[in-house]
Amino acid sequence: MSAARYEAVIGLEVHVQLKTRSKMFCSCATSFGAQPNTNVCPVCLGYPGTMPVMNREAIRLTVLSGLMLGCRINPRSKFDRKSYFYPDMPKNYQITQYDQPLCLGGGVEIEGAGGLATVPLTRIHLEEDVAKNMHFATCSGVDFNRAGSPLMEIVSEPAMHTPEEAVAYLQGLKQTLMYAGVSDCNLEEGNMRCDVNVSLRPAGATALGTKAELKNLNSFKSVLLALRAEIERQEELLQAGGRVVQETRRWDVEAGATFLMRTKEDAHDYRYFPEPDLMPVVLSEAQIADWARGLPETPRQRRARFASEYSLPEYDARVLAADKAVGDYFEAAARGSKAPKIVSNWVMTEMLRRLGETGQEIAAVKVTPAALAELVELTEAGAINSNTARELFGELFANGGSPRTLVETRGLAQVSDSGALQALVDQAIRENAKSAEDFRGGKAVALKFLTGQVMRLSRGKANPQVAVQLLEERLKR
Ligand code: ADP
Ligand code: ZN
Ligand code: MG
Repeated sequence: MSAARYEAVIGLEVHVQLKTRSKMFCSCATSFGAQPNTNVCPVCLGYPGTMPVMNREAIRLTVLSGLMLGCRINPRSKFDRKSYFYPDMPKNYQITQYDQPLCLGGGVEIEGAGGLATVPLTRIHLEEDVAKNMHFATCSGVDFNRAGSPLMEIVSEPAMHTPEEAVAYLQGLKQTLMYAGVSDCNLEEGNMRCDVNVSLRPAGATALGTKAELKNLNSFKSVLLALRAEIERQEELLQAGGRVVQETRRWDVEAGATFLMRTKEDAHDYRYFPEPDLMPVVLSEAQIADWARGLPETPRQRRARFASEYSLPEYDARVLAADKAVGDYFEAAARGSKAPKIVSNWVMTEMLRRLGETGQEIAAVKVTPAALAELVELTEAGAINSNTARELFGELFANGGSPRTLVETRGLAQVSDSGALQALVDQAIRENAKSAEDFRGGKAVALKFLTGQVMRLSRGKANPQVAVQLLEERLKR
C-alpha cells in the first residue's frame, strides 16, 4: 500500500456549550447534573405558540471567541430554522444560523510537525442545543435539560491533512476558548463535541474528494484513532477501484472502526429559512470595540509575556502557557519570587508529573502558590538542600501546609556549618577507607560516594557543596 498515492483532507465542526447562566431562548438554567427534565419550560420543550427571547450573553461570548480567534465579526447576523424530524427536537426545527453567522474567517494556531501553523476557520455561529435521547433496557427517554442551551459551532476549512494535525487543532482551539473563559471545553463531559470530516484525493490534486463525517468522538484519542481507521478504510476502498459515498459514520471504540449511521442529507433537505420570531442581530462598531477592549490575554500573548516578564526560556513559557490554569498557578507563585525560573522548574517537573499521576486539577491542588514560592525561597537562601526540598514538595502536595513551619518543626534545616559537618566527614572517611584510598589514587568518582555517605549520616540535611569541600580538604592532606 502506498501512502503517497492519496492525500487526506480533514475539516472539523466543533460544538461548544457556552457558560451562560440561562438557555439561549428562555430563562431556564443551563446547570448540569440536574434530575432529567427539571430545567425545562414551554419554550425549550417546543410548545406551539411560544416565543424565543435572545440571550445577549451568548452573543457576547460568541463574539469574544471570534475576536480571540481573529475572526471578522459580522455587523449583521440572523437566525434561521433548520428543519428536521427527530425525538431530540419537538419543534421539528432547530434555531441556528445559516447564511449570516456571527463570525467569519479567523484561525487556530497549532504546533504541527513543521512548527507553528494556522488552521483557517470558515465561520462561527450560534445555535440552540437539542435534547438528549437516553436508552434503557426496555424503553428510551428524552431529557430536555440540555435542550435550548446556547451552542457555538466552530467550522474549520478543509485544511488539515493528518490525524495528528486534527488533534493539534482541537487542542489549540480548546486552549484559546479556555483563555476566553467561554466554556469548560471538556470532550469527555460533552460540553465540547466534534464532528470530523475526512476525504481522500490523489496526491497533488486540488479538487476535494467525497467526504465521510465521523461522529461519537469524545476524546482526543478517539479523534486520532477514528481518523486513522477511516483514512485506511477509504484508501482500501479507492485502491480496490471503489468510490467513497457521502455519509455519516459512527466511531466504535471497542471495534476500533467506523460504521455507517446514515447517508448524508444535503443542505437543501433541511429547508433553511429565516426565523420569523427573532430580530436580526445588529452589532455596532462601538459595541464590538467595547467587547474587544475587555478581551482576555491570548495564549500567544501570554507566552511572550512570560518570556519577557519572568525571563523564562521560550520552552518554559510555552509549557506554562499551554494550559491557562497552569499559567495562572505559575504566575501566582512567581509574581513575588526572586527566582521565577526556579518556580517554573518546579511547576514543569514535580507539579505536572504529580498532577498527571493523580489526575488532579492544578486549581485545586494542596500546595498553594504561596507555599511553592516559600519553598523556592528556602532553597535559594540555602536554608534547605534540594533533597529536602523535593521531599517537602511531596509532603505539601499530599497534605498542604507551610514549608517554613515544616522545616522548623521537623528540624529539616540544611547543615552548612563546617564545624558540625567535620565530624560526619571524618566518620565517612573512617568507615570507607577503601574509597578514601581510591580518591587519593586519582579515582574522582570515589568522592561522589563519600559525599553520599556524609549526606546519609546527616540524614539528608548536609549542604552537599560544603561536604564536598570538607572531604577534599581532608583527603588532600
Ligand atoms: P456539510 O454541508 O456536509 O455540513 P460543509 O461544507 O458545511 O459540509 O462542511 C462541513 C465541514 O466539513 C467543514 O469543516 C469543512 O471544512 C469540511 N469539509 C467539507 N468538504 C470536505 C471534504 N471534501 N473533505 C474533508 N472535509 C470537508
Ligand atoms: Zn426553557
Ligand atoms: Mg455544514
